Amino acid sequence: MHFYSPCHFHFVGRVRPSGCPTDIKKILTMPVFLAKLLDRHGFFFLHFPSMFQIKDLHASLADGTEILKGLDLSIGKGEIHAIMGPNGAGKSTLSKVIAGHPGYKVTGGSVEFFGKNLLELSVSERANSGFFIGFQYPLEIAGLGNEEFLRAAIDAKHKALNLPKLSESEFKEKMDNAMQLLKMDSRYKERGLNEGFSGGEKKRNEILQMAILEPALSFLDETDSGLDVDALRIVANGINNLMNAERSVVLITHYQRLLDYAKPQFVHILINGKIARSGGSELALEVEKSGYTC
Ligand code: ADP
Ligand code: MG
Repeated sequence: MHFYSPCHFHFVGRVRPSGCPTDIKKILTMPVFLAKLLDRHGFFFLHFPSMFQIKDLHASLADGTEILKGLDLSIGKGEIHAIMGPNGAGKSTLSKVIAGHPGYKVTGGSVEFFGKNLLELSVSERANSGFFIGFQYPLEIAGLGNEEFLRAAIDAKHKALNLPKLSESEFKEKMDNAMQLLKMDSRYKERGLNEGFSGGEKKRNEILQMAILEPALSFLDETDSGLDVDALRIVANGINNLMNAERSVVLITHYQRLLDYAKPQFVHILINGKIARSGGSELALEVEKSGYTC
């Protein structure tokens, strides 16, 4: 991927400027030039200053094995990105490192979230500043009621942000709306957190958490795995409903089928701890057809 960042715009693409326009005629023909590039290269886009920027990120396991090997990623407000890549490439490691999982050590690079150094924040500070991770393998916590957990999570977030605590009725309304959006029966409120949930139910429950916490940036790690066709549509619809101009989502997935419903503007291929290639939504279709040959 080539990265060129004049002023406050990011130009990302396979564009190698070969020379600058030197006269007015060339400036006037610029739109035509850009249209031709778009046509010829298939992948060229602009996006605004990012809310989230990873530069040259290196991270290792506790035993020193390097998993992330110089990863760059930039996400703007209101964007849907997809990250695809072979098993073991480092996709889940990336989400966990950003979330602040203690099992990984960042050995180089930077992660900025709304201009702040995310890597200096504790796990809960990262969450309270708007980062959310939907786990590939959500944990079960027996005895902790699902609703009780969500109530505690939203209360902690409001407290950290100096927002007023939600009243009983406000929380109930929020919970009911979110459960309706995800077509979840109210009995899931009382059950233990993910306790005895099927794989698909756990994934749906991750999106319920996202709906309650309303994060600015969500990394959803293989949220589509284990979902039947109807559940996939419901979950994708839930994700789309939670999107707005201020929120962004990164969908880590192996399959185009999720991306048919929750359409990414940007697709990245992560191979061996690095983003090997980035493009538009057509890149996911190419991967589906030809695999991860770059
Ligand atoms: P992906 O999500 O792209 O399939 P992961 O990020 O889960 O890949 O894993 C990347 C590599 O790091 C894999 O080889 C995996 O076995 C290894 N790995 C990740 N976490 C651990 C861990 N806690 N202990 C040992 N190996 C790990
Ligand atoms: Mg994974």
